[in-house]
Amino acid sequence: MRYISTRGEAPALGFEDVLLTGLASDGGLYVPESLPHFSLEEIRSWRGLSYSELAFNVMHPFVDDAIPADDFRKMLDETYAGFTHQAVAPLVQLDTNEWVLELFRGPTLAFKDFALQLLGRLLDYVLEKRNQHVVIMGATSGDTGSAAIEGCRRCEHVDIFILHPHQRVSEVQRRQMTTVQGDNIHNIAVKGNFDDCQRMVKESFGDQSFLGGKTQLAAVNSINWARIMAQIVYYFQASLALGGPDRSMAFSVPTGNFGDIFAGYLAKKMGLPISQLVIATNRNDILHRFMSGNKYEQHKLEHTLSPSMDIMVSSNFERLLFDLHGRDGAAVKELLENAAKGPVSIEDYRWRHARKLFDSDAVDDKTTCDTIREIYERNEYLLDPHTAIGVRAARTCRRDPAVPMITLGTAHPAKFPDAIAESGLSVKPELPAHMADLFEREERYTVLDNDVAGVQAFIAQHWKNA
Ligand SMILES: *Cc1c(COP(=O)(O)O)cnc(C)c1O
Repeated sequence: MRYISTRGEAPALGFEDVLLTGLASDGGLYVPESLPHFSLEEIRSWRGLSYSELAFNVMHPFVDDAIPADDFRKMLDETYAGFTHQAVAPLVQLDTNEWVLELFRGPTLAFKDFALQLLGRLLDYVLEKRNQHVVIMGATSGDTGSAAIEGCRRCEHVDIFILHPHQRVSEVQRRQMTTVQGDNIHNIAVKGNFDDCQRMVKESFGDQSFLGGKTQLAAVNSINWARIMAQIVYYFQASLALGGPDRSMAFSVPTGNFGDIFAGYLAKKMGLPISQLVIATNRNDILHRFMSGNKYEQHKLEHTLSPSMDIMVSSNFERLLFDLHGRDGAAVKELLENAAKGPVSIEDYRWRHARKLFDSDAVDDKTTCDTIREIYERNEYLLDPHTAIGVRAARTCRRDPAVPMITLGTAHPAKFPDAIAESGLSVKPELPAHMADLFEREERYTVLDNDVAGVQAFIAQHWKNA
């Protein structure tokens, strides 16, 4: 399988290189040159498979000969054995023909574990083969950092440095990162805000000379192709559990960077009958505004009760724009260069095509809380604020009550106790057993000044073979 850039200029790469590359050299994102397609008969034959067996069938065409089949199977078995539910991604019924797909049974209680638990293993496998080492550097306002750290804790050929703004992430979020033990794990609390952290990461990627040429930086952010790939699997899994592929399904997806829902779009293109995909956003609603009025325009960032969806632009949306433009990289390049300067639109017929593929809704904090409360009062089931947005949007946008509506449950409610409290419920979400002692565990992190040279010097001194 070969991968090409959405901006049409960077060289095509194989799976291994795509894994190690963040942005393409032309500023685009890598996508498969062509997608595998599965017949209904083939999908039907997957009924009853375990999650990791299904994952192998869905992902193997993307990995191709980069990893021998037996090694890839073993990797997937190990990855999903680390989840706390036997079914890995169980379904919970909310109402007639309405479901939540619980994607928060991994080590850090959010759906990002599905991809990052696998990505760590993939990276280590490829680096071992090539006898290489990488330093993963990332900035987090809370959520992705812990999933990335958990994903890399066992990697021999990876050191990971995660920057978070000192005293500006919640205690649960900080502890999820700083209590993970491992010589290759380095948490840095920067005396600044999230933007400062992000700027340092960006500058460091731009000029890696501080590493002295002995290792190189790698990114595990949401534009990494392997993350999207891993997320395609659970659309198949949920559908098969509810009578697919002989029934069509609808999915509602709490959306920030457009990675998770883009995976659903790919599942559909690969042959899974999906009749509706709902983009559910919070007040950071650039995608909802685009879907409603064909205007793609950045607004100022709003801080909401669903912080993992607080974005100004959705980086993976570029992958959809590439398809909407008939895979014309030059057109995408021009569009996004213009979008950086001000509002843009796409040709009407292209936009209409997007509207056929997706519905959308934006949900504010109050409605999020109302939804959490309503579902708890009716079902005694506690939603986290991100999932609540998905459920609300699913109900608003639903086209056909005969089609099962599945909302992706992206996080465990115990990760976001503030939103639960704000919804007026007196119930306190409990951390699951494997995390119950989180507040007693030893923390390890280093506080550094808001100064990129100091942070870079720290990294240069502390990676494994420095
Ligand atoms: C990352 C995240 C999202 C958004 O997913 P995207 O792939 O960025 O659209 C939604 N909910 C939670 C809990 C997340 O951590």
